[in-house]
Formats: sequence, C-alpha cells, structure tokens
Amino acid sequence: MIKVNGYPTKEQVKTKFPKIEKLVKPIAIIECYQEIPCNPCSTSCPVNAITIGEDINKIPKIDYDLCIGCGSCVYSCPGLCIMLVSIKEDLAIFQIPYELLPVPLTGEIWSGIDRSGHQICEANILKTLKNKQSDRTVIVTVSVPKEFLYDFSTVGCKL
Ligand code: SF4
Ligand code: SF4
Repeated sequence: MIKVNGYPTKEQVKTKFPKIEKLVKPIAIIECYQEIPCNPCSTSCPVNAITIGEDINKIPKIDYDLCIGCGSCVYSCPGLCIMLVSIKEDLAIFQIPYELLPVPLTGEIWSGIDRSGHQICEANILKTLKNKQSDRTVIVTVSVPKEFLYDFSTVGCKL
C-alpha cells in the first residue's frame, strides 16, 4: 500500500489496467495514485483520452478506447507515472520512461524490477527512443514474460 510502503499493491496496480483483451496494442497505463495539482498528461494527449476535470488535483482517468498509444503522455508526466503496455503472445511489452545513465541499448538484457525495487525477471531491451519532445526522458521498449504483467515496473542494470 502506497501510504505504508511507498509503492502500490498488486491489486492497486491492476485497477490501473484495462481488460487484458485491450492490450493487443500499446495502451497508456497511468499509475497516478494520489491527488496532486498536476495535469500535463491530460493536456498533452492529442485525442483527449485523459481527463482530469476542472479540479486539477483529481486523479487522471483514461478512456482506453480512445488511446492511440502515441506516447505523448509518457514524455509529459513529470512523475514518470505512465508507461505503454501491450501483450504479444507470451510476452508483455512495456514502453517505460527512463532518466538514468547508462541508457539501455537495443539487444541488451537488463534486470526487470518490480515496484518494491526487487529483481523479478530478465528484460530484453527492444528499442530505445529519444527525440525532441522527450527532452531528457528516454523511452525504453522492453519485453518480459507475460506472467510479470502486473509486477514489472522498470529496468535495473545490464546483466
Ligand atoms: S498514449 Fe497518447 S493517446 Fe494514449 S493517453 Fe497517452 S497521449 Fe493520449
Ligand atoms: S502528469 Fe503524471 S503525475 Fe501529473 S497528473 Fe498526470 S499522471 Fe499524475
């Protein structure tokens, strides 16, 4: 639980995911759990898939049917709370914001880390993307076994 441990439980994480059938294409998963005055995710979305409403403190809501997986909200979130997720056969594909050095490189294998900071699996680095829009945030595309869909959070170090 966030207030006790600083990270969400698996049940809380699941509430941020759509039905698994929706993950045939990349969908934004917004792990924003607490009310704060913030809204770049909402204002950056080109298709208005993310709603916060008039009270900027409210937690963002996403319409998964509208999301086109463009990644704008991933770059825009100052809290690195958003990632794109899809499922391909036995793999869960994550596009995560990453701001540490060294940056993972395509083809490398890194440790997959859960929300409590523990290593849980190997993560294959599929792509690393940096562009003008991203400033210093790199989007790293990784695949992990599908069983870690609700556990994987980021990558730790090169194996
Ligand atoms: S990925 Fe793109 S379309 Fe989907 S919610 Fe984020 S900004 Fe909107
Ligand atoms: S930009 Fe990030 S931190 Fe701010 S409201 Fe959206 S998801 Fe939450």
